[in-house]
Amino acid sequence: MTIEPDAGELALLASTVRRFVEREIAPREDTLRRDGALGLPPDLRTELQAKAREAGLWCFSTPAEFGGAGLSPVQLVAVLEQAVRHTYCLPDAGDGAFGYDPPNFLLSASPEQQARYLTPGVQTGAQWFVAITEPSGGSDPARSITTRAVRSADGWRLRGRKMFISRVGEAASGVVLARTGPGRGGISAFIVERDWPGFTFRPVAVMRDHGTYEVLLDDVFVPDENLIGAQGDGFGLAKRWLAKGRLALAARSIGVAQLALEMSIDQARNRETFGATLASQQSVQWMIADSHVELHSARLVVGHAAHALEAGSDQADIGSSMSKLVATETAFRVVDRAIQIFGGMGLCRELPLEHWFRALRVNRIVEGASEVQRMVIARSLLSA
Ligand SMILES: Cc1cc2nc3c(=O)[nH]c(=O)nc-3n(C[C@H](O)[C@H](O)[C@H](O)COP(=O)(O)OP(=O)(O)OC[C@H]3O[C@@H](n4cnc5c(N)ncnc54)[C@H](O)[C@@H]3O)c2cc1C
Repeated sequence: MTIEPDAGELALLASTVRRFVEREIAPREDTLRRDGALGLPPDLRTELQAKAREAGLWCFSTPAEFGGAGLSPVQLVAVLEQAVRHTYCLPDAGDGAFGYDPPNFLLSASPEQQARYLTPGVQTGAQWFVAITEPSGGSDPARSITTRAVRSADGWRLRGRKMFISRVGEAASGVVLARTGPGRGGISAFIVERDWPGFTFRPVAVMRDHGTYEVLLDDVFVPDENLIGAQGDGFGLAKRWLAKGRLALAARSIGVAQLALEMSIDQARNRETFGATLASQQSVQWMIADSHVELHSARLVVGHAAHALEAGSDQADIGSSMSKLVATETAFRVVDRAIQIFGGMGLCRELPLEHWFRALRVNRIVEGASEVQRMVIARSLLSA
């Protein structure tokens, strides 16, 4: 079952994306996985990107004026759930076939910054990094960011280290948060290019198939015109980025877990042990029922949060946190049960389940661990 679209247009949009994935992406992945590939080969991604762009399925949440599809939050979660119905779907739906939405920091950038980075990046299918986390911690950036941006003639000098930053190896530019003063109000956001002098990075392997990077900023000069918004706006911009990112991550988690549930149902119907199908065993039926009910509940939370974000409600942040918490925890359990139903085959590289399992484990920590989401929710309730 998909998100219940309350408008024909939304249903049409979601089914268009689903058809694209089923026809263009999923069939091409079967043999790749058997050969041990960790993602789409670049030439195949480029070919799929051209088709997706032609179909108008490009950079889903980027406004049309910058070359994206301009989907609203409600449309985005409905579409993302369908866009991940294939193997290499995490962390990016279509493994980049649908382009990479620029971080929404850039929607608050100046027209000059947008003309220089945002529009060309969307046109060329550029990837982006967002560097917040440091070795001193990611859960509490207001305290743990120690990277400093020191004033110099015509700009800033950035000095510090960032940790676990996705896509640095693939992206030409991104957003770096650095300290320009004390406290939350002392964090600023800068657009930084990866090949500027003083910017170095090294891969840090993690349990998912997509790696991350450690970044060293050794006196990197950033011109004045690359500060996003005003000095000290960084924390607020990051909060907006996270609110949208958590919702999208929740929708992707639900979509892939839904596919795992459908695979479990097929397997339970067809696999026999002790002279009967797995589907006839109550313990398997309960796993399937629990997965269905939990996914359905998570989907409702995400849909509700998307409406709150779209309406500009003051409940949008808490809705995103609830979505991220319930969807990532649920999706992980659903894929875990799917592996159990498949037995040894569930652990094989040939099937996508173990790949999703590792990626979904990561989703319970990135963009705020589950405990941090609980903290956000509890604080909001206790301070009301
Ligand atoms: C694969 C991957 C990709 C990533 N990509 C990026 C990226 O692109 N950009 C970026 O900036 N960062 C990125 N990160 C960093 C990620 O956001 C952080 O790892 C995450 O926010 C947790 O921070 P931490 O690892 O420093 O853990 P810590 O902040 O040290 O927290 C450790 C654990 O403590 C617990 N905890 C923390 N605070 C509380 C609390 N208040 N109450 C109860 N328990 C608590 C949680 O269980 C948490 O997992 C990535 C990380 C990974 C693994």
